[in-house]
Amino acid sequence: MKFCMKCGAFYEDKDGTGCPKCAENARLRAAAEAAEINHQMDAESARRARRRAWIELIIGVPAFIGVIYLIVYLIRLIRGA
Ligand SMILES: [Zn+2]
Repeated sequence: MKFCMKCGAFYEDKDGTGCPKCAENARLRAAAEAAEINHQMDAESARRARRRAWIELIIGVPAFIGVIYLIVYLIRLIRGA
């Protein structure tokens, strides 16, 4: 029987991995941190996607209108000539 100085638990150190309670706590904390990082990345990528959509809209709409005007201009030019 061993005693963990960190969490104060008694445990059987069968395979020499140390306190199973602290190992479980560390695993849960690591999982929580990974989930937190993933969540932040998701929020960041969502924000980027939204910004990209806006940029595409801002550039795309005038470009589309410009192309239509160009076509109309070319048609008038061809008919006029
Ligand atoms: Zn412990």
